[in-house]
Amino acid sequence: MLSNLPQQPADALLALIKLHNDDPRTDKIDLGVGVYRTGQGDTPVFGAIKAAEKKLLETQNSKAYLGPEGDMGFVHALMPYVFGKDDPTMGGRIEGMQAPGGTGAVRLAVALAKKAGVQRVWMGVPSWPNHAQIFGDLGLELKTFNHATKAGRVDMDALVTALNLAEPGDAVLLHGCCHNPTGIDYTPEQWDQIAPLVAEKKLLPILDLAYQGLGQGMEEDAYGVRRVLREVPEALIAYSCDKNFGMYRDRVGAIYVMAEDAAALGRVLSNGHALARAAWSMPPDHGGAAVRLILEDEALTAMWLDELDTMRTRMNQVRARLAAAGTAGSVDFAALGHQAGLFSILPLSADQILKLRSDHGIYMAGSGRINIAGLTMGNIDKFIADVAAVSA
Ligand code: PMP
Repeated sequence: MLSNLPQQPADALLALIKLHNDDPRTDKIDLGVGVYRTGQGDTPVFGAIKAAEKKLLETQNSKAYLGPEGDMGFVHALMPYVFGKDDPTMGGRIEGMQAPGGTGAVRLAVALAKKAGVQRVWMGVPSWPNHAQIFGDLGLELKTFNHATKAGRVDMDALVTALNLAEPGDAVLLHGCCHNPTGIDYTPEQWDQIAPLVAEKKLLPILDLAYQGLGQGMEEDAYGVRRVLREVPEALIAYSCDKNFGMYRDRVGAIYVMAEDAAALGRVLSNGHALARAAWSMPPDHGGAAVRLILEDEALTAMWLDELDTMRTRMNQVRARLAAAGTAGSVDFAALGHQAGLFSILPLSADQILKLRSDHGIYMAGSGRINIAGLTMGNIDKFIADVAAVSA
């Protein structure tokens, strides 16, 4: 039985990590895996998380089961940041549940959409590869359109054309901020155009917010999600704390549902709970509890926001430095200055990417995606020169 299963391809990024680790060159640069790094190349645990974990260790007096909704204190504490302080429940129409990371949240959102009758999802490409895998796994049809133009800007024409082709009852997946892998985000003006169109076409938005605070700032990065929610009757929001709290392996996420009214909200959530129960029963607790302890404590919240500011500032400095290089070889680095978050895509061929690796020790995904935080003030000039050399 089991031996009938075909071999699946190895995860390309994980293979890249191994190749990088095995490379003896001291000036090698890892731009592959998607985690934040300091100017020294580390991915440290946030100070605010360390403090919250200490508090958790001292005060937690039971590890008895929670329900499939997880730690609702965590879920609620996050809401003012995502939906705004004024009315984070939108008049009692938004409620959430904890999920195992942003991945668990996206998975549950798509499963809920499918259970509600959605058959087709529209999405700009390229996107985070797991989006398409989750749609495929759950048997939804994926319709794609170009997310970006060659010049590194949002392809609004492609988006508007796609949404005009969509049928009422289709879903559309939109990245809230820090688009993975392109770094190309909608401007507030573009969200102002997108939100009414999604509503007019009667599409179900699935909003994926995995990098809040890593682009322009916590409030600014929530603009798109809030703008869409003002316009539509219902939506699903997948949230990850794994980047903005540095919790990657602890799998901290939440899914929020906005429904037409409180009665519908309760019904949708009961389906969310049932799906979670059948998939993972309940989410891992530790990371969500640590995030809750931060958000419940003013001093820890200030500390966390400060650490997030430092990350964002560093990435924006790297982007500014790249942008200042203008054109290097055939690559226009200037476009990266307008982009946001951990990632951007360089328009390099497979040969050029391979050459960067073999001749210069620079490791990046086969798509040309680079992790901006893999660059430091110490290696950025070498990187620009090497890109110029292979793409001249
Ligand atoms: N959505 C997007 C767009 C992502 O890039 C990622 C992670 N890289 C996720 C969701 C999932 O995040 P998590 O690690 O919390 O599962």
